Amino acid sequence: MTRPEQDTAGRPRAPVIQRLLGDPRVAQARLGKRIGRLPYFTRVESATGPITRMEGRDILNFGSNNYLGLANDARVIAAAQEATARWGAGVTGSRLLNGNLALHEELEEALRRFYGRTGAMVFSTGYGANLGLMSALLGRNDRAWVDEEMHASVLDGVWLARANMKRFGHNDPEHLLAQATEDNTPGLCVVEGVYSMRGDRAPLRRFLEVCRATKLALVVDEAHGLGTVGERGLGTVEEEGIVQDADFITITFSKSLGSCGGAIIGDKAQVEALRVLTRPFLFTAANTPASVAAALEALRILQTDPELVRQLKERVRSLREALVARGLRPIPSDGPIVSVEVGADFDTLQAWRLLWNRGIYANPVIHPAVPAGHGLLRLSVMRTHEEQTVRTVADACADVFSDLQLSQEGRGKVAS
Ligand code: PMP
Repeated sequence: MTRPEQDTAGRPRAPVIQRLLGDPRVAQARLGKRIGRLPYFTRVESATGPITRMEGRDILNFGSNNYLGLANDARVIAAAQEATARWGAGVTGSRLLNGNLALHEELEEALRRFYGRTGAMVFSTGYGANLGLMSALLGRNDRAWVDEEMHASVLDGVWLARANMKRFGHNDPEHLLAQATEDNTPGLCVVEGVYSMRGDRAPLRRFLEVCRATKLALVVDEAHGLGTVGERGLGTVEEEGIVQDADFITITFSKSLGSCGGAIIGDKAQVEALRVLTRPFLFTAANTPASVAAALEALRILQTDPELVRQLKERVRSLREALVARGLRPIPSDGPIVSVEVGADFDTLQAWRLLWNRGIYANPVIHPAVPAGHGLLRLSVMRTHEEQTVRTVADACADVFSDLQLSQEGRGKVAS
């Protein structure tokens, strides 16, 4: 067992190193050891598909964001290979200086067309897009209103801006209205089209009304909505008819598009202003040719074949119906993330472990990603999952809930 005060040779450690080793989150990771295995950093030994080689076994993968299967699409892979051959493995510079490839601009043009907006700006990660937007848009005296389940990339951006952050209840525009009405501080509101942990969708129309009434800019993170929600796969902004109204939409290429990178979509004047002000855009290397070309090709496929989105939705419906038929209660949504509430962190990790033993990989979600006592088993559906696989995972989940005597209400153990 590591002693934080001194190293293995008995020399005293610097206080910052002691604090690092004594961090309670490190102790939390030890909780995993009690269930026999840490659920994190599982070694993946093949491409990410419905069946993925992990730690020497073929595992049914219900923990990947490869929603449309495009990470393994031959056309997408070929585009990445060709771009690497033509443009090189990396761009060795930032967009500002030597790294602004015609390829980056081509992807920005394709994204503008896809969303029917006049501005788009491509980043090396989706994390960077949110970090950049928040940090460039907000000043120290501004207010960021964020949903209490907001992704870390947004929170980090608000902290980078040193702006004042206030949370409102999850998916509760009335709570935002009640708090923001009394407040004259300039600011913005950020919501996710599809929430990354619980998988539910934001009531965007109402959020837009509230933002207009309170003079807040509206930012919608469609990381999980792109390619999964809306007829054309634009996200919840499409489903709720606010594609043109959101001040900014942020997306990532690392989920439905099967690549890596991210973007801010909005109006030209604002996006061009951001381009020269956004430190996480200016002071990092531009996205690799392979990633940009793969995202471009995946976007082209999504645009020409909306059937992909429909097929994914069908699989999602099958999994939800199969879970409900077995007495489980997934959090209501029609997005690709199907989360079932387990309860305590320890029970959630145990449930994960039992699924893993049966050759199924899902994501365990525990505090602080969700409020304490509301741990989730999070299943991510891919269009390429077989119908039979969906039934297998639903059976396994029902068995796990029963073996651990977890309530079918999905809220912890059955009282005995
Ligand atoms: N926003 C949300 C809601 C996300 O779930 C994620 C990825 N987990 C990101 C942003 C960041 O995207 P990326 O992983 O592509 O950097």
